[in-house]
Amino acid sequence: MKDAQSIPCPAPECSGTILFSPYELLEGTRFACTHCGAAIQLQDKESTQLVEASMNRFGQLKDGLDKVKKANSLS
Ligand SMILES: [Zn+2]
Repeated sequence: MKDAQSIPCPAPECSGTILFSPYELLEGTRFACTHCGAAIQLQDKESTQLVEASMNRFGQLKDGLDKVKKANSLS
């Protein structure tokens, strides 16, 4: 998949990831977790904004985790 990105699966107790292409996502394509089948799909402008907000939050979470990992490796 070209330009594929991944986000952690939003389902509780699932450690899978959902691979998606942002462009295809914006066109309404549905992407499912390969582990549990939970899916993300945009249906209207409102949900587009929701997903963007979630993606920003996932990015911040990832940055936070990287900082924790670095801090742990220093000690
Ligand atoms: Zn899942």
